[in-house]
Parts: sequence; structure tokens; C-alpha cells
Amino acid sequence: MTNFSERFSRRKFIVTAGASAVGSVLLKGCLGNPPEPTAAGGADAGGGGAVPVATSAVAVANEKRVEGIETTKVTLGYIPIVESAPLIIAQEKGFFAKYGMTEVTVAKQANWGSARDNVEIGSAGGGIDGGQWQMPMPYMISKGLITKNNTQIPMYVLAQLNTQGNGIAIAAKHQGKGLGLKLEQAAQDYIKGLAKAGTPFKAAYTFPKANQDLWIRYWLAANGINPDTDVSLLTVPAAQTVANMKTGTMDGFSTGDPWPLRIVKENIGFMSALTSEIWKGHPEEYLAIRGDWVDKHPKATEALLAGIIEAQQWCDKPENRAELVAIVSGKSFFDVSPAVLTPPYEGKYVMGDGKPDISDIKMGPLYWNDGVGNVSYPYKSHDLWFITESVRWGFLPAKTLADNKTVIDKVNREDIWKKAAQLAGVAAAEIPSSTSRGVEKFFDGKEFNPDKPEDYLKSLAIKKA
Ligand code: CA
Repeated sequence: MTNFSERFSRRKFIVTAGASAVGSVLLKGCLGNPPEPTAAGGADAGGGGAVPVATSAVAVANEKRVEGIETTKVTLGYIPIVESAPLIIAQEKGFFAKYGMTEVTVAKQANWGSARDNVEIGSAGGGIDGGQWQMPMPYMISKGLITKNNTQIPMYVLAQLNTQGNGIAIAAKHQGKGLGLKLEQAAQDYIKGLAKAGTPFKAAYTFPKANQDLWIRYWLAANGINPDTDVSLLTVPAAQTVANMKTGTMDGFSTGDPWPLRIVKENIGFMSALTSEIWKGHPEEYLAIRGDWVDKHPKATEALLAGIIEAQQWCDKPENRAELVAIVSGKSFFDVSPAVLTPPYEGKYVMGDGKPDISDIKMGPLYWNDGVGNVSYPYKSHDLWFITESVRWGFLPAKTLADNKTVIDKVNREDIWKKAAQLAGVAAAEIPSSTSRGVEKFFDGKEFNPDKPEDYLKSLAIKKA
């Protein structure tokens, strides 16, 4: 157990770190798309080391401590963007403690590369046991595709943290060219013409082969633009992307709340589309933990998940959003002005470039009810979409698709989620009865039938596979 003086010095560390380390990652953190570490290292390099942490054991009402819990301690990494809210709220509102997880540490990660490096180390080595991930990172870590020496570190996907809450930003210099959700022929020709003129449209994401790369690729390809040949798509540290966008050398990037608001407000650019327009209720980010940790602590995992499920239900309620903003915007967490976070949490988006503003709470980040399925439940059909899309762009070999059931069953532990949901008192009617959310529909009319991923691939005009 952590004694008071240890806690006190840890708190003191947070305060000290707040002045330097937190400040230095603030801009990147706000972008929602922390950069991939460069090979040469430097400011954006990943790696373990000290990360700003926050621990607390809040006194709770209605305690439902899990009997025979193997541990009360776990370290979960998070990126300071709206996707991480359930982790922070579960800790700060006492939902982890309610189920007996009284020593949860939520540790802010400088970027996705750092999170990956820290989960390789594990909490015993000063890293993390798991936390927030873009899909399919838990699969890539499990298969050793993005780890040092290609070490396979089995991960379990345990819950989805949210749906929606992301978008595609375009530099201001491209205003008036019809770059919206759908591109007419003239807009397609405009983008392709830039490549012909030797100044290809440069678009960025901050971690390759995961959500943001996939969203921008989907949007481009659905609009007749080949992301591999008609534009220049690349990994760029987020801070650099924005700086380049301001100076006119970066044309677009895929980003998450609360950044879209700033892009428009600061006249850096405009929003071509929200991801909720591209795919309503689309899967966004996930909770995944090292398999060895979960196998060793099955009851603690259920307790942890029950806390997250309750936090998600809490986060989803419009009447809690003001308190949610007050908590996550705080110094220990996102460290941003609450004014920046309020609009996305109310579903208010100024799109710019003459497009009508959006004001619909169901178009922003959602945590429990999105009108399509259960947000928290990790549908295997969604993991399959991420795998299919990875095959589409040549990120994974085509044989992965033939093998998908074996691959997904190893990583996706929706069975644990269901037990945790019962523990959290989720009504039976709200617990999905199928591991598939069914046929998924996209803005361009395409459909993904999880029973026939090959048909989806065949239906797509632009692909690498
Ligand atoms: Ca995201």
C-alpha cells in the first residue's frame, strides 16, 4: 500500500512536472494525435521515463468491492484527448475505487509511440500495464509489428472508450474549393492537379496504420482520390503539422477533439468533415491491457472494467458534461481551458469554409449510447473492420483476413466485458447478444457486412490489396 508520504511526494512531483514536462507536451496533447517518435529521437521520441501521473483513491458511496480481488493497483496510460475521459472520470469520480481498485494510476503519455514503449516495459519497469489505444494498435503490439525487435506482447481489447469525436482539418488556403464531406469532380481535380503541378496535397496523421490514418484514407478514397498516389500522406509530429499548416506547407490532417474548434477559431483552416459524418457511431478508441496482467488478475480486471463502464454511462449524460469538462480540463489531466472542451461536448462544431455549423450532441464524442449499438462493448465486428481496412491498404497481409477469427478471438475479450457489465448492474437488454454490430454503413453508400469482409474489399474502387 502506498503510504501518505509517498503519495505526498508523488503529488509534489506532479506539481513540479506540471511546470515543465506537462507544459512541453501540452500542444501535442491537445491535438489528439501525438506524434510517432522519430528514429533519431529528440523531443517527440518515445521511451519510458517519467510521465506525469495522477493517483487517487476517492471515498465512494455504494461500495461494491469485488471479493478476492488479486490486486488494487494498475497503471493505465492515456492521451489527453476526449477519448480518455472514461479513464479519468472512473478515477476522479471514484468508480474504480467503488469496485475495490483503489490504487489505479492514470498516466499521461507524451504520444502514441511513448504509450507503446511504456506498455512494452510494463508497470513493473516503470511503464504502463495498458490503457487507451487507437485501433488496431493492440493487434499490432500483440503481433510484434510495432514493438522493439518485433517482440510479441499479447494484449487484450476489453472495452471501447468512445465512438466519434474526430475529424479532418484542411488548411485555410484551400477554402472555396469544395473540400467538404463529399468532393465533386472539380474538387477531386483540384487535389489531383496539385500533384500534377509538383506540389501534392500533403496530409498527415501522427501514428501510422491506425484510426487517423484510416479515417483520412477512407475519406479520400471515397472521394475518388488515391491516398497512396494522388496525395502525399505522411506521419508528422502534430505540433509540426499545425505549424506547417499555419505557414502553408501542410494541407490537411486527421485530428481529434478538441482540436477541430481551434483550427477554425484560429483561422488555421477549416473542417472538411467530422468522422461522425463519414461513419455514424464509428468505433474510435479502446481500452486494452497486457494479456499477462489480465490473466494474472482476472477479478481485478472485472473490477476495473466495471468502473470504466460506470464512468462511460456517467460521461454520456448531457447533464454531467459541464462537470466532465471541469475535471478533464484540469492541470493534472488535459491542462486546457474549459472553453476549448465545452463545444465538442455539446456537439457544437464550427466547420468553416461556408459550411453550416453543426449543433447536435449526437455528432460529438459518445461514451454509452450512440443510437447504433453499445459504445462500451468491444464488438468483434469492428476489430474485423480495422483488420479488413489494414488489408485494404497493404498494412497487413491478405491472409490475415482468412485467419481473422483466430486473430480476433485471441485479442478481443468481450467475454470479460460482459461479466464486468453484470457486475456494474447493466441491464440485460443493454448487453449486446451478438459479437457483431451488424452491417455498417458509410457516407458514400458503401456497406461493410462483417460476415463478408471480402465483398466489402471487392466493392471498393481504390485500394492496394
Ligand atoms: Ca482518436
